[in-house]
Amino acid sequence: MIHSKTRLKKYPGLPGYFLLALLVLLKNASAQQDSVAYPWPEGKRAAISLSFDDARESQVIVGTKLLDQYGIKATFYVVPSTMQRQLAGWKAAVASGHEIGNHSLTHPCMENFDWSRSNALENYSLKTMKKNIQDCTKKSKSCWG
Ligand SMILES: [Zn+2]
Repeated sequence: MIHSKTRLKKYPGLPGYFLLALLVLLKNASAQQDSVAYPWPEGKRAAISLSFDDARESQVIVGTKLLDQYGIKATFYVVPSTMQRQLAGWKAAVASGHEIGNHSLTHPCMENFDWSRSNALENYSLKTMKKNIQDCTKKSKSCWG
């Protein structure tokens, strides 16, 4: 953790999640070099995965309906406390083909952001993160009914 924290401070304007996404892309690109070619359905040459964070009300009130108009499905990483405010809408979104993912119970982020310093990822251990994810699952199941 100290190593990555030091590395990220070299790029104060670059969000940590961007670096994480870049690492995932590079890892996947490397893995694809060793894999067998995958024939895309209907001759397509690529795919895009859309995901959204936090279960903001606008996502379910406006976003899912707009995506549905174009036949596009997305994954929403929802926080149980905000999901509860529009639970019927989220259930309708799942029924129409959207996916719900485990966000974690809180929104830990890099301490580079002022709003995240009290819940910074740099202070998390694997055990802490596992508990945060498991608590999200429990809370989501109790909300979902
Ligand atoms: Zn979030």
